[in-house]
Amino acid sequence: MLSKHRVDIVAVTKVAHGDPKFAEIMNLAGIEWLGDSRIQNIVRMRRKGVDKRILQIRSPQISEIALSVKHADAALITELEIAKRIASQSKRADKKFGVIVMVELGDLREGLMPDEVVPFVREISNYYLDFLGIGTNLGCYGGVLPTIDKINVLLSLRDNLIDSGIDVPVVSGGATDTLSLIEEGRVTGINQLRIGEAIILGRDTTGNRNIPYLNKDTMLLEAEIIEIKEKASKPYGEIGRDSFGNIPVIDDLGTRKRAIIALGKQDVDLGHLVPLDPDVKILGGSSDHIILDIHESEIDYKVGSVVQFLPRYPSVLKLMGSPYVKRVYIP
Ligand SMILES: *Cc1c(COP(=O)(O)O)cnc(C)c1O
Repeated sequence: MLSKHRVDIVAVTKVAHGDPKFAEIMNLAGIEWLGDSRIQNIVRMRRKGVDKRILQIRSPQISEIALSVKHADAALITELEIAKRIASQSKRADKKFGVIVMVELGDLREGLMPDEVVPFVREISNYYLDFLGIGTNLGCYGGVLPTIDKINVLLSLRDNLIDSGIDVPVVSGGATDTLSLIEEGRVTGINQLRIGEAIILGRDTTGNRNIPYLNKDTMLLEAEIIEIKEKASKPYGEIGRDSFGNIPVIDDLGTRKRAIIALGKQDVDLGHLVPLDPDVKILGGSSDHIILDIHESEIDYKVGSVVQFLPRYPSVLKLMGSPYVKRVYIP
């Protein structure tokens, strides 16, 4: 879909914690660029022999610039000090490093204010760097949606730069949340998107939609039942706080059949887990236990049975980082 609109994909591996297997699959799919925010993930991919170009999608820290220049090919930047340090490290390593200058368009995470962009790029064009272009990121902190107005700000900055004699090969127009604008053919001029969630889950959380032409069942979580009992639904006794400091408010639905699975808040985000059995409800949990209401289910669960879930983005992020969760790849 994107190549039809002449948009390159940076396949973002961060939700998979830079899993080299993911990188390998992207390679087979013909992807040219990978993106990750963490230098540790990038280094791990390199050690596993991943030789694609890698864009570091969070600004390098000053303390890790030598590693970034060594293992990545380019980074998103917003600070002159970082640009200077990258340039001097690039010179030392004799490796010209690419930078994409990020522009703040309302989401209020990283980025220069639009009126600072031209002077900033003018300044860094004197440095030993490869200025690749400009980019933006929306939908992360402020939940701000990419709209044509926002993209137009980016495109007019590109034009200003070109007018002042600076080449702008890349306009990196966003992430999964920007796909819908491209699909509808409503924007032209963006030529790169940095895509994680759409590839891994076929979903767009910011736009709150399942992407119709992508697979949604790419990741499956299985957890084993360690207890099944009929219990009251409302906790009894004097109520303080739960193990995360919250005061629980739990309705009384009478006695219910419940199951506990051997998984907890350190492995998943309970609000972002969809049981495949539609009659299973997630009641809550703590660090190592998740409690399910299985009262209405037609499946005859037993201790040792496996319950399946589709994990959404925040859960995938935790699951892929949890050393307690075994990964099985199904070709
Ligand atoms: C995480 C991230 C992406 C990828 O976002 P998805 O919503 O997973 O596509 C792209 N760019 C930046 C800067 C990011 O931090």
